[in-house]
Amino acid sequence: MAYIEPAPIKDRENPLESMMSRFNIAAEKLGLEEQVYNVLKNPAKQVIVSLPITMDNGKIEVFEGIRVIHSNILGPAKGGIRFAPDVHLDEVRALAAWMTWKCAVVDIPYGGGKGGVRCNPREMSAGEIERLMRAYTLAMIDVFGPDKDIPAPDMGTGPREMAWLMDEYSKSHGMTVNAVVTGKPLVLGGSLGRTEATGRGVMVSALAAMEKLKINPYQATCAVQGFGNVGSWAAILLEERGLKVVAISDISGAYHNSNGINIQEAIAYRDNNKGTLEGYKGAEKLSTPGELLELDVDVLVPAAVEDVITTANADKIKAKLIVEGANGPTSAKADQILVDKGVMSVPDILANAGGVTVSYFEWVQNRLGYKWTAERVNRRSDRIMKDAFQNVYKAAQQYDVPLRIAAYIVAIDKVAKTYKFRGGF
Ligand code: GLU
Repeated sequence: MAYIEPAPIKDRENPLESMMSRFNIAAEKLGLEEQVYNVLKNPAKQVIVSLPITMDNGKIEVFEGIRVIHSNILGPAKGGIRFAPDVHLDEVRALAAWMTWKCAVVDIPYGGGKGGVRCNPREMSAGEIERLMRAYTLAMIDVFGPDKDIPAPDMGTGPREMAWLMDEYSKSHGMTVNAVVTGKPLVLGGSLGRTEATGRGVMVSALAAMEKLKINPYQATCAVQGFGNVGSWAAILLEERGLKVVAISDISGAYHNSNGINIQEAIAYRDNNKGTLEGYKGAEKLSTPGELLELDVDVLVPAAVEDVITTANADKIKAKLIVEGANGPTSAKADQILVDKGVMSVPDILANAGGVTVSYFEWVQNRLGYKWTAERVNRRSDRIMKDAFQNVYKAAQQYDVPLRIAAYIVAIDKVAKTYKFRGGF
């Protein structure tokens, strides 16, 4: 779990406003018709439920569960479920819309959705989390479905929770339905390569961008914020491709070593240390975690939470390239500051789309009743990520806009065209 504490609510820019402001710019550049704009501006469905759970102490606590389907124009909705203490409707709405754009950018046949439960999984027992996941699944039993809405892991959830979801859904339907959810454990029909898929996509898009910027990976340095699934896999794979990873961070703080951090060693340390880097000795602890973002590195990978690069620190960023492993790490107000400084950002809806791409492969394999090799999964997802990058890069040149707006343009254009062919429904 990537768990960097987000900025206090009062200092945060609303992720929904951030998403909408980019959507508005892209829609205008594209000359999107008003009626299509109005359809895409609003989520197709929003469900909010109360989930009473018996806690280990015998008391009943009521949790709020949300699922938002932003769009199902391209196909069934797709998107993760987030378990976090600060989940709120606007955030889930933004994340659901980002899934629509993400799936369209990588050209997979899905719409966008997202789920969230406001809870703190770090303070809950496995039994409590299981009861919560099963209750959430039952509450959403008519929302989910392999042809309707296909959840997956997100912050605070992983293969274990997806297994409970698949089991609960299957029991309700009287048969095993593994295609209802992705990111499952391998034995339940998970896909090889899914665990590392998001980090791998970050690596592939980072290398594609570095080629454009003429940065030699073997001479480049990199800082990675967040050491959960996305950050740690991105760090390993970037290190493997020659970059020197000089800083990493997680909830316990940020760690810097100008000679490079041994990522395998840091991961082994984390795994033997209750999942955190607390007390890690392979690097020096920075006095504040935010310093990691301002280090003099070539490549910066924010792979934790939303809104970490804001108007408060954007002018202090020294990296030449930002590759967004997290969803929404840069606030909309910070975009222009980075553009003016000449920093290239590979936006979230492109950079972290490797995860949902391999989720798609998992769903395809489940429906085929067949298993692909890791080589096949990686080869196909690398190709999709490279093609998506080139497509977005081309649109950026054509419309004379930064990569972020170009990615929205590519996505909105695809969804709008599909909508027009399908007609009003
Ligand atoms: N939660 C991941 C994301 O934000 C994965 C979604 C999926 O695989 O459906 O992209």
